[in-house]
Amino acid sequence: MTEKQNNISPILPTYARMNVTFEYGTGSRLYDTDGNEYLDFGSGIAVNCLGHCHPALVKAVKDQAEKLWHTSNIYHIAGQEKLANRLRELTFADSMFFTNSGAEAVECAIKMARRYHDANEQPERYRVITFEGSFHGRTLATIAAGGSEKLTKGFGPKVDGFDVIRFHRDMRNVEEAITHETAAIMIEPIQGEGGIRQVSDDNLQILRDIADEHGILLIYDEIQCGMGRTGKLFYHQYSGVTPDIMSVAKGIGGGYPLGACLATENVAKHMTTGTHGSTYGGNPMAMAMGNAVLDVFEAENTLGNVQKMSDKLKLDLMKLRKKYPEIIEMVRGYGLMIGLKLHVEPRDFVIAAFENKMLIVAAAENTVRILPPLNITEGDIHEAIKLLDKTCSDMLKINDTL
Ligand SMILES: *Cc1c(COP(=O)(O)O)cnc(C)c1O
Repeated sequence: MTEKQNNISPILPTYARMNVTFEYGTGSRLYDTDGNEYLDFGSGIAVNCLGHCHPALVKAVKDQAEKLWHTSNIYHIAGQEKLANRLRELTFADSMFFTNSGAEAVECAIKMARRYHDANEQPERYRVITFEGSFHGRTLATIAAGGSEKLTKGFGPKVDGFDVIRFHRDMRNVEEAITHETAAIMIEPIQGEGGIRQVSDDNLQILRDIADEHGILLIYDEIQCGMGRTGKLFYHQYSGVTPDIMSVAKGIGGGYPLGACLATENVAKHMTTGTHGSTYGGNPMAMAMGNAVLDVFEAENTLGNVQKMSDKLKLDLMKLRKKYPEIIEMVRGYGLMIGLKLHVEPRDFVIAAFENKMLIVAAAENTVRILPPLNITEGDIHEAIKLLDKTCSDMLKINDTL
């Protein structure tokens, strides 16, 4: 074998990674290989909802690892039935499918919507209306659903069946996009990657009414804003406006790869034997984690903590905005899904925060995202504000020298 040149990293260079490797974590803290401590207010992008290495999750994974890791969906999986029954109790849904990722949950949602209309003798209804700035994943269909050039460029013909429309302040405009081919409207009730753009309760109701009027389905993508991030298990539960289908992932496994696609019986009943599947989806290991996350939510009143902490965090961030109006334009978001719309480059701000040993995440619309673990304390918030204050003051200095 000839010597390889190795001008490329062994991992595809698809990420602009920060120059750090973390070795371990506990709660809201991460430690890099040099022993530096960081305050983690990014949670692996809204994934580590209970912080790092929560003892109950560690125990759950250890216990399950000694019992059974994987079987197959050709057998019954007790943990799956348990988690599905719990989510059924807690949501609009009657039935669900477990996946390994968010994109797979969205794929399942799209397939379900098409299948529903096919079964109702309207196979021409296959198109899904989606919104500019939305993010639904990185598979061929989900990049077409997101629609931005950034996601789709260079990947050949876009998967057909998505009509990406403007993110309207008044969702009544959505009706204009509906045709006899429309199967569903799919929306993130709060856009994550798109820069923490929230859909009002009124607008959710308008979308629900439009969907009902036209006999089409309403799909929520709560992969980022769900699983307690806003203080209810799912954000739309504040409004009481339920979807027909909902994709879930990120926080649901507390750091273990897990997603789910939930649906009403009316929609789910058409996903009959053989119509969909996954080798790993919902395997015993993942289900142990999913169930453990809900156990902790119940035992520690995690949702209550989100509501309490988010009020404090948001208030403190508003004060920071007042102190640094040249840096922070706006504080927005809900619960512990907060966006700071900036007057400076989000990526520069994220790096400046990183230099101060705090982790946050950039988003579109000149926004940085603050997505702490849901079980943070007032002490964590106090420290976060201190570090963000320092970050703002550093940014001012940088901008002054320019
Ligand atoms: C992260 C995310 C996805 C994609 O999830 P993956 O697990 O990366 O496939 C889809 N939709 C939303 C709203 C997300 O935030």
